[in-house]
Amino acid sequence: MKTIGIIGGMGPASTMIYYETLCEIARARSGGNASARVIIDALDFGEVQALQQSGNWDEAGQQLADSALRLERAGAELVLLATNTMHKVAAPLQQALSVPFIHIIDATAARLRAEGRHVPALLGTSYTMEEPFYPDHFASTFGAPPVVPEPAERDDIHRIIFDDLVKGVVTPETTRRYVDIVRALAARGADSVILGCTEIGLVLNAANSPLPVYDSARIHCEEAMRVAAA
Ligand code: GLU
Repeated sequence: MKTIGIIGGMGPASTMIYYETLCEIARARSGGNASARVIIDALDFGEVQALQQSGNWDEAGQQLADSALRLERAGAELVLLATNTMHKVAAPLQQALSVPFIHIIDATAARLRAEGRHVPALLGTSYTMEEPFYPDHFASTFGAPPVVPEPAERDDIHRIIFDDLVKGVVTPETTRRYVDIVRALAARGADSVILGCTEIGLVLNAANSPLPVYDSARIHCEEAMRVAAA
């Protein structure tokens, strides 16, 4: 099993979900107390958020490339960036790496395609839902961009991610709001929903979602474990 490098901390809850999920997959695969070989380089999410808010994406991309190189030098044989949003600046880190980079949007789009979905909806930060990087990249693999929520819904999804979910906080109110938004997307014709922020699996899942869920964090981990085992 290869060693997986995680560029983490965006936010902290996401990185914990990744490690738990990778280990759960390792146990399911190999039994006993098997766990995943992982090296984590966690950034300070407060600093990353400040770069996002000031639009300093070049600096953010440089910091991600530095993190990727730290992981590679430490022995990572493949690298994951454990956030959808920061894939906006995945290019510089992909260029810096000589080991494989598992792209979260490619992995998610490939899964939806393989499972015959036609009209996926997308939940994520406002960067992910509103800027071209996600829908354009998604469409290049899937064939069409995802449906996005209405503006007021997008505002609530984004606010809840940054106020609560990145810290691992879940409340009945935020869960209800997310479920209502997915119901509205189903009424607009969506046949599935992409949890396109790595912490949304904390509030939405197969049991409470009105649409089949495609959790980007889980799909990303499954793809990483497939590559790690190859
Ligand atoms: N984890 C989140 C995502 O998947 C949001 C945090 C961030 O802005 O990186 O997009």
